[in-house]
Amino acid sequence: MDWQNGAALNQNLGKLSDEEKFFIKNHGHKISAGMAKREDKDLPAYIFWCPDCENFSYDCPRGSLEEQHLICHRCGEKIDFSPWWAGLKRELKSLLAWLRGLENHAEG
Ligand SMILES: [Zn+2]
Repeated sequence: MDWQNGAALNQNLGKLSDEEKFFIKNHGHKISAGMAKREDKDLPAYIFWCPDCENFSYDCPRGSLEEQHLICHRCGEKIDFSPWWAGLKRELKSLLAWLRGLENHAEG
């Protein structure tokens, strides 16, 4: 367990209302918990619910923007944190590829 994240989590959990905790736990919300220092960079940190170890957890998003994820500091479980439009962008890309295929077919 990452003691640094654990300490930050406890610090921030105390500031959350019961409603916020409910939404994090039952609706998979990620709630912004200010900034955290990571390798000399200040990154936005989030509190989220880990379905694997069933605990609140705390981390900064990792990975490329479209494949962002959080890692539970207790059990190491990877939690998806890609933005809402990442899935849409993937759909549009395949739609465009399909349209191009139609176009090429029509021309050929
Ligand atoms: Zn966990």
